[in-house]
Amino acid sequence: MIELKNLSAGYGGKTVVKDVSLCFPAGQVTVLLGPNGSGKSTLLKASLGLIPAGKGQVFYDGIPIERMNRRQVAKAAALLAQNRPEAEIEAERLVLHGRFPYLSYPRQYTETDRQIAKQAMERTGASAYAGQLVSRLSGGQKQSVYLAMLLAQQTQTVFLDEPTAFLDIRHQLELMGWVKQLAGEGRAAAMVLHDLPLAMEYADRIALMEAGRLAFLGTPEALYESGKLESVFGIRFTRFVGEAGVHYVCSPKEETQ
Ligand code: ADP
Repeated sequence: MIELKNLSAGYGGKTVVKDVSLCFPAGQVTVLLGPNGSGKSTLLKASLGLIPAGKGQVFYDGIPIERMNRRQVAKAAALLAQNRPEAEIEAERLVLHGRFPYLSYPRQYTETDRQIAKQAMERTGASAYAGQLVSRLSGGQKQSVYLAMLLAQQTQTVFLDEPTAFLDIRHQLELMGWVKQLAGEGRAAAMVLHDLPLAMEYADRIALMEAGRLAFLGTPEALYESGKLESVFGIRFTRFVGEAGVHYVCSPKEETQ
């Protein structure tokens, strides 16, 4: 399990994430919520050792991340980043990149690597575009390829930074179902989302960030009861029970005044 203890991190002299203690338990989907600039992406980067901790520490199964090399970290945690370069590469080859941490020198894929990549593509529905250039695929198709790459990395923890951005609603729901499935298999999933109702529906736990600090950590129900979403986002957030279950609706604060 990945655990952050009193972690502070940032860029140059600027501290962005401030004194955050948080873990990402196996079998659970932890959603990071918070306004733009509240430090969610920075928290993910620090959790992966992509930026160093200023204060505090990141532990992987009790081992401080600074004692691990890049390959060890990459075998334990994978990131679906928010900004990805336009890949002029065939989908299948990109998915195989997920196997990089497992390759020894000279870098050559084994039959096992190819099988794992193939299965990952089957699982995310990317097999149909295996031979196509990723840059020519639609948003949803691209996402299925990047997800397959993430899966091919075979890590215990998966981090996803705004994975639903640019996806239509069907693909968003598919993606959330897929992340739930990964957690159901015993992995830890941590994802940044902007869609509050979607987060409330799918998260096991929500970590709410405000100005770099952890403002709340708990179940969606507990978060709702706390009223913190309304104060941190400056919105009105309403829960109602419909025939299909509990629903949440966001609206501007002004409307209710
Ligand atoms: P969020 O993901 O919650 O929108 P970020 O973690 O991306 O927030 O950003 C938090 C703060 O860190 C912002 O003020 C942003 O400008 C700053 N920041 C993000 N990335 C960098 C960077 N590479 N260099 C300097 N500052 C950065």
